[in-house]
Amino acid sequence: MKNTATETAKYPANVITEVESEAARLDLHIGEPVIDLERCRFKLSYGRSTIHRWGVFAEEAIPARRRVIEYTGEKIDAEEVERRSFRDCLYTFWLNDRWAVDGAVGGSGAEFINHSCDPNLTSHVVRGHIFYSSNRRIEPGEELTVDYNLDDTDEQIVCTCGLNNCRGSITR
Ligand SMILES: [Zn+2]
Repeated sequence: MKNTATETAKYPANVITEVESEAARLDLHIGEPVIDLERCRFKLSYGRSTIHRWGVFAEEAIPARRRVIEYTGEKIDAEEVERRSFRDCLYTFWLNDRWAVDGAVGGSGAEFINHSCDPNLTSHVVRGHIFYSSNRRIEPGEELTVDYNLDDTDEQIVCTCGLNNCRGSITR
């Protein structure tokens, strides 16, 4: 019998995993993102991303060090993450090695924010709530990005952020 607790304990806190099938990558059945305006402090929109499928964009200038959007979803334990890991599309934000938030269920839209090796957002957890805050001024029209901070995963996920200082992989 698999010991899922041990297996998932290798993931550090504040880690997002996104697992997609080829079908999802080709947009065969994944709907358009919905952004929950109640969870946004600034005007945001979604659109086609040059990084990966859909992205979330600033519709107005965002000063540095401001909360931009809350990452919401269903709070599930590591065993449930394991059970759901066969889904086509999985958006998991790890709160710690035991609990995670699945943005695929009740997500605010923050789960569609793409990874970049030089992101304009940083995630932080305040009393169980996950916030993405600006780490510099963000101009209108800019795509919002965050470092997924994937660590110690078996699979290397190629990064497509396209920056000169791209480390080549979403994993650390
Ligand atoms: Zn990159």
